[in-house]
Amino acid sequence: MVRVAECQLTANPEPEHETEHETERSYFIMSPIDDFNASLCNQFTPDFHRDTCQYYDQAENEKVCGYCKKKELYRCLADCKRIIPLSYSSVSDYLTCHHLYYLKAIRGIQINKPKLSSPLKKGMLWDRVLQNLLSGQKIYDINATITEYEMDIKDVTIVRAIYRAYKELEIVTEPNGNLQAKIDLTIPFDMVWGDKSPVEMLVNGFYDRKYSTYFVENKLSGRPLNYEDVYFIQSQVGVYFLADPSLEYCIMEIVRTPDLKSTGKNKDESVEAYGERVYQDVISRPTHYFLGYDIKTHKYGKKYYRSEFNLEELKSRFIHVFREIYNTRWLDGWYRNDRVCNSILPGIACDMTPICRNGNMSEDNYTIREKVIGKW
Ligand code: SF4
Ligand code: SF4
Repeated sequence: MVRVAECQLTANPEPEHETEHETERSYFIMSPIDDFNASLCNQFTPDFHRDTCQYYDQAENEKVCGYCKKKELYRCLADCKRIIPLSYSSVSDYLTCHHLYYLKAIRGIQINKPKLSSPLKKGMLWDRVLQNLLSGQKIYDINATITEYEMDIKDVTIVRAIYRAYKELEIVTEPNGNLQAKIDLTIPFDMVWGDKSPVEMLVNGFYDRKYSTYFVENKLSGRPLNYEDVYFIQSQVGVYFLADPSLEYCIMEIVRTPDLKSTGKNKDESVEAYGERVYQDVISRPTHYFLGYDIKTHKYGKKYYRSEFNLEELKSRFIHVFREIYNTRWLDGWYRNDRVCNSILPGIACDMTPICRNGNMSEDNYTIREKVIGKW
């Protein structure tokens, strides 16, 4: 059991007899090199040979926040000056709840694979079978994936039925797409830190499939209409456009998750019978399941053009969020937004609720992300 809340609460211990002056100063106790704010970590242990904390591991990119060697920690809490690269999802987390960003990006907490929700597991499996199919290689061992994520047999059956229909419909994609192409976006901006050093923001991510003038995103979703409204996809898709000026458009290939129930005369049906029923339903109305499916071209998806996205506004949002995160790190301002715990997305509760409620991280349910020292 890792005591998350306690670590957070003790990050800025109150002096027993504080004065106004001392409280103010406590935020600015610096380690021998002034990139660290030792008052943010009560475990800071000076290592005078390296002018830092003895538990500190530097990231490969020296501008990026380093890691902590301690098992229960991820990013160094006191390394406030170096940046943490943003991604579409980390910006979403910060906008949703500062504490959610803290738990995931700073403490590196992630939910154990078997404990992920059924929709997430199905989406992950769909993504993997599609990558295997489109690459013509066994990038992923599908059986091992199913075991590793402890997937429910019905969820596997649903994805298998979609895959079978995808092949039966002879769905076509353009060859030679670059699968999981990396996004490495650097956005310089004219703000400066306190010591006047210029600011460069890094943004990470991956395109599902990238070509020279467009990219494709694949989704399996029970709420596919969310991806048919440019307003709701602008943050994610806009970042991908920002990262490469040569991209003219994007195709969202959305598959609706089948939701057939085993009730009435199907109450006692076998898994095989259920899979066949799902397959028959998908194959009999492909436009319902493969959004934008064209019976002549055997393609599906919806096209969005670069001009549909306000990229300047998006860039500005990233810059402001980046600066706010920087301030939040210095000021230890990871307050909770408990108004959104039950619905961080429509109808979906936050995965971190047990941690926030109990102040503990059960190792049955959560784990700390692997620290890739020397990489970011
Ligand atoms: S988070 Fe780890 S490396 Fe950073 S100051 Fe604390 S103990 Fe040291
Ligand atoms: S459970 Fe609530 S307070 Fe905790 S991280 Fe999630 S949204 Fe924030």
